[in-house]
Amino acid sequence: HAKSKGRNRYCVFTPVMHQQALKILQLENDLKRAIERQEFIVYYQPIVCLCTGKISGFEALVRWQHPTMGMVSPGDFIPVAEEAGLISLIDTWVLQTACSQVHNWQKQKLISEDITVSVNLSVRLFSNPSLLTIINETLQSTQISPQNLKLEITESAIMENSELAAIILQELRECGIDLSIDDFGTGYSSLGYLHRFPVNILKIDRSFVNSIEQDGKKTDLISTVISLAHKIEMKVIAEGIETPEQLEILRNLGCDFGQGYLFSKPLASNFILDLLASAPQW
Ligand code: C2E
Ligand code: MG
Ligand code: MG
Ligand code: MG
Repeated sequence: HAKSKGRNRYCVFTPVMHQQALKILQLENDLKRAIERQEFIVYYQPIVCLCTGKISGFEALVRWQHPTMGMVSPGDFIPVAEEAGLISLIDTWVLQTACSQVHNWQKQKLISEDITVSVNLSVRLFSNPSLLTIINETLQSTQISPQNLKLEITESAIMENSELAAIILQELRECGIDLSIDDFGTGYSSLGYLHRFPVNILKIDRSFVNSIEQDGKKTDLISTVISLAHKIEMKVIAEGIETPEQLEILRNLGCDFGQGYLFSKPLASNFILDLLASAPQW
């Protein structure tokens, strides 16, 4: 309460906050030039089919190689990019880069034709009227098939304008693109609600997978989500699998796919080639 906070309670804008505000301003400024300066890199994290134990696709995750700050993680700059109105540009660049990477690997016969790439869509790009044009142009210019592309959106992207979301999602599905709900369980929506939207993959957030081996309630919860999802013909991906025990539990629960450090951290494309060359199976 007031007294324990002492004199600081009158000081709304502290020096620390001032520093933070300056840092955000600087990031925002630097972000504006980052695309043309080619400072972004796409990393790829394998998504493993839990039935076969083999890699079925990759999630594209953006990284920013800042000239002085080093590698900045998306958790730190994506909110800034959203605020600055730059996120759609970045997402479009990631989409383009990831699709041409997959085409490249296909052409060199380094991956089979059915390997997919999942790209994260910000709310901003999702509700951009040009979204479909951007997607179609990317598919054409990179020559990958829509079956090779998956898009990840969050529950909040759907909730924000659900009528519009239903139309956009339907159009994307009609193009032949699979749609995933990212970070499922962290938002406010339920499967009963999401069922009305033409999404076909559920990504269970890693907070539910984390310590599942010590927590029977978590296991029950995930088990219920998986059965419900399967009833409405959705596939399930578990995020953040870090231990063999977690993998074992999820596999036994009939979870379709897994992603996490146990298989691999997100890697730059050349390291993905090394990984593929070792033909891993879990
Ligand atoms: P996300 O889409 O849920 O991606 C999964 C995040 O979990 C990634 O963090 C990944 O590195 C991390 N992860 C994967 N496996 C494990 C694990 O076993 N343990 C732990 N502790 N973490 C794991 P990352 O790359 O830092 O990305 C964070 C978030 O930033 C992403 O969460 C996504 O929401 C956003 N993001 C990343 N790239 C893009 C992008 O190109 N566009 C947009 N709009 N958002 C992006
Ligand atoms: Mg994602
Ligand atoms: Mg996720
Ligand atoms: Mg997540």
